[in-house]
Amino acid sequence: MPKCLLIIDPVPTNRIRLSAVFEAAQYDVVTVETPHDATRFDLPDPDLVILGVYNEQPVKALASLKRTGIASDVPVFCLDADASPLRRLQALRNGAREMLARSTPDALLLARLRSLIREGDAERECERRRVTATSFGFAEAAYPFGTPACVAFVMADDVPVILPDIIRGSLPHNLEILSLDDALRGATTAVEPDAYLFAPGSDEEALDTLLPELRVRSHSRHAPVLVLHQADKPDLAIRALNLGASDIAADTASGDELAIRIDDMLRRKRLRDTLRQTDEQSYRLAATDPLTGLYNRRYAEAYLADLLMREVDQSRGYVLMLVDLDHFKIINDEHGHPVGDRVLCEVAARLRDNLRAGDLVSRHGGEEFLVVLPDTDTIEGEVTAERLRSAIGEVPIMLENGVEVCVTASIGVGFGHDPGEREVAAKTGTFDVAEVSNPVSLQRLFDAADAALYRAKSAGRNRVEFSVS
Ligand code: GH3
Ligand code: MG
Ligand code: MG
Repeated sequence: MPKCLLIIDPVPTNRIRLSAVFEAAQYDVVTVETPHDATRFDLPDPDLVILGVYNEQPVKALASLKRTGIASDVPVFCLDADASPLRRLQALRNGAREMLARSTPDALLLARLRSLIREGDAERECERRRVTATSFGFAEAAYPFGTPACVAFVMADDVPVILPDIIRGSLPHNLEILSLDDALRGATTAVEPDAYLFAPGSDEEALDTLLPELRVRSHSRHAPVLVLHQADKPDLAIRALNLGASDIAADTASGDELAIRIDDMLRRKRLRDTLRQTDEQSYRLAATDPLTGLYNRRYAEAYLADLLMREVDQSRGYVLMLVDLDHFKIINDEHGHPVGDRVLCEVAARLRDNLRAGDLVSRHGGEEFLVVLPDTDTIEGEVTAERLRSAIGEVPIMLENGVEVCVTASIGVGFGHDPGEREVAAKTGTFDVAEVSNPVSLQRLFDAADAALYRAKSAGRNRVEFSVS
């Protein structure tokens, strides 16, 4: 769907000219003369407001837009006949996200417009997700706004050396000066930078190299970048925006203006970081068992479905085990439920300690655990099952009060598809990939492991039995 722009400009010729530029770039454009006019008609919700500032002070124009309450959650992009540093500072201080001169080349106007719309979309999406997360009871991480951020200033050789001092005077953050190579390497600063300020000077190649690299490297890919371009080189600003810069400013900008821009970038970054943490927290909660910290059954089943798909390409097959504690009810009855819980946690730890990083162990039910060994042959599976059995039962569990509890486990082992058999089937064309990911196959494997577990219990417990199919 085309993005919608609301142009508010008192001068008819400006409205016509801007409409032509943006409509040619396939935007839906609505134009009005004053902010008040925008409230009188039933206009579509815009993705961005372009506010033409004329003779009046930007503060006044922005205040009257704010009073109307329209488009309060979308970026405001001011265009001004003057756009002196002072007027731009006033505009930024009063809620505009950008102010450019009317004489700005169309290509730069469009590039800046695109980046503002992109940021505005992302910010609204973040806000919606923040509200959802809060309603689900995920505590919002405290915004560490009081704490100074680390801003890396990457300078090309021909950038005036006084620039860092000018910025440092206005910026309530730690400014680290980095060379281009340092910025690419990362890890030269004690902490990962929260944001980058990049002055490529006249080094266009540096811009082309550094910006895309910062976007992909792990130490910098979440950090916004403000590019300081030479005031008489709008082409560099366009390139920077198209290469993913979060913001741009001319290198003649005052320290106060840069401080506002950097703070704004940091605010958005912190919102995104908070949401990322909330996402991670919610995935963790959805996937783990709160008592033992192991994966839960829901996660294990999703993992298995995925494993079955991948196993199609693997040669060694995989092993699935059901581990059930023996006479666990008696432990609860003799020592109480809290001790039973403590035993479950210790068993979980022993299972984890005796498996490879790529193996899965999950709590499958009350005192039953599921273990999956991917890419494992039959012999390795047998050895591992025996190791787990003895790891659980051989050393008693010592409780805090000095009491020792002995617990043993019975283990039923099932083997995934026989690789040889699958290879033949694949060659003869009788092998059906869909069948492998079919829950029936999984069910069959579980049934086989369960039957083996039953045999282990019947044969006296504290033993490993293998599926016969
Ligand atoms: P078997 O050797 O045949 O497996 O005997 P069992 O006693 O282990 O098996 P049964 O199924 O009879 O009992 C399982 C017990 O596990 C009963 C239940 O109260 C206990 N249990 C299940 N979940 C928990 C839990 O989260 N904490 C505690 N403490 N006990 C639990
Ligand atoms: Mg049991
Ligand atoms: Mg059981």
